[in-house]
Amino acid sequence: MTREESALALLKSCYGYDHFRGQQWDIINHTLDGGDSIVLMPTGGGKSLCFQIPGLMSEDGFAIVISPLLALMNDQIDALQQNGIPALALNSEKSENENRQCVELLMQGKVKLLYISPEKLLSEIGRWSDRIIERICLFAVDEAHCISQWGHDFRPEYTQLGCLKQRYPDIPVMALTATADRITRDDIARQLNIPEARLFISSFDRPNISLNVVQGSTGKVKFRQIVQFINLHRDESGIIYCLSRKSTEKMAAELSRLGIDARAFHAGMSAKDKQQVQRDFLNDDLRVVCATIAFGMGIDKSNVRYVIHSNMPRNIESYYQEIGRAGRDGLPAEALLFYTYGDVITLQQFARQSGQAQVNMEKLQRMQQFAESGVCRRRILLNYFNERYDHDCHNCDVCNNPPERFDGTRYAQMALSAIMRTGEQAAMFTVTDILRGWRKADIIEKGYDQLKTFGVGRELTVAEWNAYLLQMLQLGLFDVAYDEGNHLKVTDYGKEILYGRQTVQFNRYQRRDFNAKKRQAEQALIPAEPAEKKQMDKVLLEQLRDVRKAIATSSRIAPYMVFSDKSLQAMATEKPTTKAEFGLIHGVGDVKCQKYWRPFTAAISDYLSHHS
Ligand code: ADP
Ligand code: ZN
Repeated sequence: MTREESALALLKSCYGYDHFRGQQWDIINHTLDGGDSIVLMPTGGGKSLCFQIPGLMSEDGFAIVISPLLALMNDQIDALQQNGIPALALNSEKSENENRQCVELLMQGKVKLLYISPEKLLSEIGRWSDRIIERICLFAVDEAHCISQWGHDFRPEYTQLGCLKQRYPDIPVMALTATADRITRDDIARQLNIPEARLFISSFDRPNISLNVVQGSTGKVKFRQIVQFINLHRDESGIIYCLSRKSTEKMAAELSRLGIDARAFHAGMSAKDKQQVQRDFLNDDLRVVCATIAFGMGIDKSNVRYVIHSNMPRNIESYYQEIGRAGRDGLPAEALLFYTYGDVITLQQFARQSGQAQVNMEKLQRMQQFAESGVCRRRILLNYFNERYDHDCHNCDVCNNPPERFDGTRYAQMALSAIMRTGEQAAMFTVTDILRGWRKADIIEKGYDQLKTFGVGRELTVAEWNAYLLQMLQLGLFDVAYDEGNHLKVTDYGKEILYGRQTVQFNRYQRRDFNAKKRQAEQALIPAEPAEKKQMDKVLLEQLRDVRKAIATSSRIAPYMVFSDKSLQAMATEKPTTKAEFGLIHGVGDVKCQKYWRPFTAAISDYLSHHS
């Protein structure tokens, strides 16, 4: 058997997969040749296999996996043990006794993967005997961007890891991250002392995640849209990111009131409460988590079906990382971003107060361009990560619903005239109130209700005005005086339009309707699958979900660790009724086949006897 054949055999018997994905095999092969590597792959791309397979292939050796997060470590080990792979964790949570047992198992060559925190590795490795050291076949540094001060998740203990290559030059090092920028990458190579490391950059595209942006919705309208969207995904898991702790709690409370199973998650909660939310979410006992950015780092749930941003994130890196938590199993998933100019103002304040105002303002601007784009959103994203992507994706709202252009001169004149009549002393939301003719206390106080333009824009909704004012800003019709209460100032170009010397085109505001019926009609437009292809049986799928849930509950693991959604779907399509057939299903390795074929094939046989 060639090396590749034995690797493929392991892939099938341990994980139940038929092929390596993308560059996985090249990376593994390079490591088996003793080479160092830097692996850049998006979240969900399949980084773990790259270091797990070399560990499994080494005869009596093991791979060391350095990981910053205890929770993630424990999850990975649970998942590996489910597949019958001997993996262990060493960290500060373990007792001295457990640690000693672990070292004993390493001596005996009984462990294939050792997960360890950086500080623990550095304090332990000096005490290990040569016999153990000789068995180490790889140092894998997971979440390697933590080494860089420029990154978003700097961890000082990571900077000590450079000594590994110095002390053990013959052991290959593999650094893995989902953060792609060049500064971080160079930092990783320099600090880990692996200047010759081969760089493996995978595509950052996540084609199964559909990208959607809703502009201008605020308050109740936004909330109603969120509820409609969740109702389209009733039994599925999702995350809603909110800007503040308070807004996560408000969102969760309001959703709960409507009977939607939602809870808040933020850094201000006790460790115990946070763990509970994470666990329930993993176990499919909780559908929706309303979270600040702190959520998601420590979880590895493959069947998150949607991620909603109820406000704009501060940069594209964060956005991409957060939406990346959806659809890790490769099945269709949705990202939905709500965006208003109010978000931009808030984020600009944060950016200006941050230590690196200029960089952060620029990043915010790129995020804003993404949100306002009139071209394929995936093009913008991948472009941002310096990846060539030269076609439309047909899985974003711009591709699927190209904006309609119209002559917006009359609306622009209304708005510009209102701005002028306030003496350029009003912020954007005040201008909207004037145009809509809202007699709010501060409008009356300033006498704006006496202006000639008061109420001239009643024919448009608040959301429409929000959207068009944004376009006017982008087109340069007015500026925002940040140093002067964010008041709007008409530019020379704006005056040209106000006085009728030029016209201006707008993109027609599209009211987003997450109405289930309409969605079905849209889906009917997607060409039907070829006739010979087997159909997935949704009723059976639900029953298999119940079988999975029962097993997960009784063995105290997360349902997705029993089988992924993808495997369940394959079962509901192929309907295996024998052990041999069951073993061929995607994601069914030897150990899981042995353990689980009975309950699943029994459920399928039972179902078939009633339904055929
Ligand atoms: P990452 O660590 O890069 O975020 P993971 O290693 O967790 O991603 O992999 C994401 C998902 O893809 C997991 O469910 C994993 O089992 C699956 N996966 C990885 N490699 C393959 C493959 N070659 N074939 C099928 N599924 C794979
Ligand atoms: Zn697109």
